[in-house]
Amino acid sequence: MIRLDGKPVVEAHQKKLTAWLDTMKNQGLNIQMGILLVGNDRSAQMYLSFMEKKAKQAGLGVVKVQLPETATQKEVEEAIETMNQDDSIYGVLPLMPMPKQIDEAAAIACLRPDKDLDGLTTTNVGLVSSGKGGFAPCTPRACLAILDYYKIPLDGKHVVVVGRSPVVGRPVALMALARNATVTICHSHTTNMKELLLDADVVIAAVGKAHLIDGTMIKPGAVVIDVGINELDGKTVGDVDYESVAQVAWALTPVPGGVGTVTTTMMLEGVYDAYHARNVDSTEHC
Ligand code: NAP
Repeated sequence: MIRLDGKPVVEAHQKKLTAWLDTMKNQGLNIQMGILLVGNDRSAQMYLSFMEKKAKQAGLGVVKVQLPETATQKEVEEAIETMNQDDSIYGVLPLMPMPKQIDEAAAIACLRPDKDLDGLTTTNVGLVSSGKGGFAPCTPRACLAILDYYKIPLDGKHVVVVGRSPVVGRPVALMALARNATVTICHSHTTNMKELLLDADVVIAAVGKAHLIDGTMIKPGAVVIDVGINELDGKTVGDVDYESVAQVAWALTPVPGGVGTVTTTMMLEGVYDAYHARNVDSTEHC
């Protein structure tokens, strides 16, 4: 069984990104990403520190905007607009959740689609859905980056995605479809999930239920990408029961150390994509 570790995928992508940022710096260009944190949510605060550290390690500048728990809708939208207007900021990550008085969807609607690093705007959702490019959310991109790094093609394969959330299941299914996979999506109302999984060449699990999928549900020789991050008996585990699935699968991502490891790198790489999108055709994305 091949263990599809995220670390070498990160190293390969980060090497290219750092080299590009060095070149930009030598040309006197200041490339930055913006991160917006509204309020005191602990996980959003932790993610901000983590992203800031990772961006700095890669050589990417970070413009951090922090608004208090009492921020108004107008203040949030103005902060986004300021980052929209700042030409040195190529991508923006608005952290969620925001305080309850904030209409997150209305705030996201203010973000320029060509700076939308995590594919949150309806423009990018539409572009990804119609297979016309756009920014896809980082986690589905991490799944594909792992498959690409380990040279696992999707063309003609039966891909079964478990989960249909707007941030993982749905976009990853559409991205697999764009690569000519035959795609099945399972969700909480699916009645024959085991039968469908047993026919899958590639399984992408994005549910949020520890060890939902075990070895009896996997076709021998299948590739399994586990997006889930769950706590079980004090440990972080995936949606896939690693031990039993490893007995039948040809390749499998670990948790931790798989998809989650690559997701942050995809966010940073989005800045590279945004730079090129802006400099190739600035009218196309606005
Ligand atoms: P979510 O929004 O809660 O969506 C879960 C999906 O799973 C829903 O579509 C739900 O179906 C489906 N589902 C629930 N129970 C099911 C069952 N018994 N059988 C089949 N489908 C079932 O979660 P998410 O945001 O997509 O996240 C999924 C997992 O990925 C979580 O563990 C999360 O922590 C992890 N995650 C990891 C990363 C990373 O970078 N590695 C990033 C984001 C999320 P319905 O639509 O019918 O409700």
